[in-house]
Amino acid sequence: MSAQILDGKKTSAEVKEELKPRIAYLTEQGCQPGVAVVLVGDDPASQIYVRNKERTCEKLGIYSVQHRLPATTPQEELIELVNNLNQDERIHGILVQLPLPPHIQEREVLYHISPEKDVDGFHPYNLGRLMIGDPVFLPCTPWGVQELLLRYNLSPEGKNVVIVGRSNIVGKPLAMMLVQKGRGANATVSMCHTGTRNLSTYTRMADILIAACGSPRLITPDMVKEGAVVVDVGINKVGDKTVGDVDFEGVKEVASYISPVPGGVGPMTIAMLMANTVKAAERALQRKNA
Ligand code: NAD
Repeated sequence: MSAQILDGKKTSAEVKEELKPRIAYLTEQGCQPGVAVVLVGDDPASQIYVRNKERTCEKLGIYSVQHRLPATTPQEELIELVNNLNQDERIHGILVQLPLPPHIQEREVLYHISPEKDVDGFHPYNLGRLMIGDPVFLPCTPWGVQELLLRYNLSPEGKNVVIVGRSNIVGKPLAMMLVQKGRGANATVSMCHTGTRNLSTYTRMADILIAACGSPRLITPDMVKEGAVVVDVGINKVGDKTVGDVDFEGVKEVASYISPVPGGVGPMTIAMLMANTVKAAERALQRKNA
């Protein structure tokens, strides 16, 4: 029997639809949500992501400005731009598209983004709040994974969740979210990585298996428990095809639910970014009215 599809396109459309009245209210109050997108260099994948984000803002009535800088931009100049955006009242969210060119230290730049405008949720302040169970802005991809599961009534509560990948933007924050005592979490979480020996021993124990390792089709059917829920975060170019970290065709015969690539976690990530931007604007309005 073939698995049911976790449709990120449809689910993200629902999330975005629910944002519309909040955006309308904020705009009415003179606080239209605004986002600044900063792109350094001309990485083709980053250009596509940035264009998608801009298009989504436009459709939702979120104000957006783009700053496209040459790959040779000095780090200090980028930080100066971030500092200016921190002061800009029209801007509630600052997105610095990663990866940055090698001469720029990503961390240094991200640390300069005001935590109140950190709609990507990468600032250590926001990651710390997440860790202690009092989050403000959740990182968008992990939040998108959690939201996708919840909207299919697949609560991680009490489940064995195995995450393959330990990056600071996906694996680690997702593990931190799902381990919290609370709604949509309360799972027993294992995190696997390149230091894990015998990966399939872990993946086969998963009720919910989340692949975020950037390794095309690493997860094969023999690594998946019958009836498991499989979420594929990976986006990999193989020739002219985009594939995930899961061997979709094989694994869909073993899993009960599976997210496709494209059309799974990718659209959810953008929807959650919009949700964070709206939240940032709501917080700004609250501060103004306080
Ligand atoms: P990353 O390269 O920073 O981290 C990958 C992690 O996977 C590492 O922690 C590494 O230890 C682990 N890993 C790699 N190969 C492994 C293996 N063979 N066995 C076990 N562990 C292994 O990547 P990232 O930024 O976390 O992204 C992961 C994937 O998700 C990439 O394909 C990326 O393009 C994709 N991604 C998608 C979205 C989205 O919106 N859908 C967002 C961010 C990243």
